[in-house]
Amino acid sequence: MTIRHPEKVNQPINPIKKKPYWIRSKLTNSKEFFLTKTVINQNNLVTVCQEANCPNITECWSKRHATFMIMGDTCTRACAFCDVKTGRPGKLDSLEPFKISSAIKKLNLKHAVITSVDRDDLDDGGANHFYDVILEIRKNNPETTIEVLTPDFLRKGESYKKIIHARPDVFNHNIETVPGLYRQVRPGSRYFASVELLKNVKKVDKNIFTKSGLMVGLGESKDEILQVMDDLRSAEVDFLTIGQYLQPSVKHFPLDRYYNPNEFKELETTAKSKGFLLVSSSPLTRSSYHADEDFAKLQKNRVNQANAQSIS
Ligand code: SF4
Repeated sequence: MTIRHPEKVNQPINPIKKKPYWIRSKLTNSKEFFLTKTVINQNNLVTVCQEANCPNITECWSKRHATFMIMGDTCTRACAFCDVKTGRPGKLDSLEPFKISSAIKKLNLKHAVITSVDRDDLDDGGANHFYDVILEIRKNNPETTIEVLTPDFLRKGESYKKIIHARPDVFNHNIETVPGLYRQVRPGSRYFASVELLKNVKKVDKNIFTKSGLMVGLGESKDEILQVMDDLRSAEVDFLTIGQYLQPSVKHFPLDRYYNPNEFKELETTAKSKGFLLVSSSPLTRSSYHADEDFAKLQKNRVNQANAQSIS
């Protein structure tokens, strides 16, 4: 049996806290769910829905919404919260852009979300592969809007700009946690490098929506959450998602506590008051959860904001 997380073997055992009643996945096994599964399997694709053991999989796949994970199923980082397999990844699949594009066509997706593992082993961090995937999707699915959820491209210079040149509709990069927890939770990443990436995307192309996601429940304080919101706003991030951290195994980073739905509502209100165009905050919010509906809201909110500014 392959060990999914060799770096965690010597970690202490952190018992998993019982989930409260409000953390419940919706169980809707429909024909659409099996269609999504079949298309993914037939094209030999990887999804973050499966690899990260996402609690929303039955709901999302029943709406034909899957988040494709490109460049393999093995990540070169070893974040303490993440369930994606770590190790040495294989070669890039040059047919992957075509396979993803065909799957999107078969699923008739209006909005596609593409993410990837971290590929620190590649000179460009995988930016050129993202570029090829976006172009191929657009070639075969001209009406489909495209959202990318990317790694941080740390120590990869300006390679991220290649993705911007492919003009995705949404550029998402998750901040994941507060700066004070980075060393333990995202040891291979740098908080301010992630903020900088989001800021630079906006600098290069103001029309691309930028988006970031934060998990809560890892032991962060309210003040630290507010700091993250301010940092993301100073980087002109449009859309913030906030969701509950769920500890994948006893070897992962220990969950500190479950936030209740009212606390998520309060965070949403606070974030909105800081000027995000859109905020999604709930226990089961994930960065790609309801991404298609949220994209429509983003567009609407941008138009409303522009109209309000022209009146005042
Ligand atoms: S929330 Fe995202 S990762 Fe989870 S099942 Fe839905 S699309 Fe997949």
